[in-house]
Amino acid sequence: TSFAHFGFDEQLMNAIRKSEYTQPTSIQAQAIPALLSGRDVIGIAKTGSGKTAAYLWPALVHIMHQPELQPGDGPIALIVVPTRELAIQVYHEAKKFGKVYNINVVCAYGGGSKWEQQNALTEGAEIVVATPGRIIDMVKMGATNFTRVTYLVFDEADRMFDMGFERQVRSIADHVRPDRQCLMFSATFKKRVERLAREQLNDAIRIVQ
Ligand code: AMP
Repeated sequence: TSFAHFGFDEQLMNAIRKSEYTQPTSIQAQAIPALLSGRDVIGIAKTGSGKTAAYLWPALVHIMHQPELQPGDGPIALIVVPTRELAIQVYHEAKKFGKVYNINVVCAYGGGSKWEQQNALTEGAEIVVATPGRIIDMVKMGATNFTRVTYLVFDEADRMFDMGFERQVRSIADHVRPDRQCLMFSATFKKRVERLAREQLNDAIRIVQ
């Protein structure tokens, strides 16, 4: 497969070329067509598989098909990750490709300044990358909301469970509108991940690295 198969526009293709990626990874080749067609996806993939771009590029396409953000709107794409490190990493990748379309990205994680994150979220962003506990706090504080979330990602789902975020993950999923597109990435496919997928995904396509 080549990147040309995805039907991305010239702007995004240029940004991908600039990254010097020569061809899609296996996960990207499998996930991107499914995500562009609006399907839910469960991907079993580890770090290094290119999973971040696999869900980010379709997120950008999804966002470009939505009405512009209005003041007070929360994000269109919500990416939930287990750790601050992963949040920052995904944030940088989202910024890098999001700037192609002037898409704003905000990052909110436990341990970071609540005041700064609250201000950034209040400004508004199409993409929010967050750890589970902190995004729930931010919603409770009124800094953001899930009303416009139509593209929901749980990255490293197994690790979120290992870290004790099961209740928070389920709460987030239950507070996002049911007609959202939802995807889950996990390094392993154990009982709890399988159960979450069964409960939250709709006729999902399953892909393996
Ligand atoms: P990830 O699995 O998302 O953590 O990505 C691992 C690394 O692979 C990141 O540094 C990406 O920038 C890089 N990457 C993502 N997609 C590709 C690709 N198609 N070709 C080469 N490198 C890539």
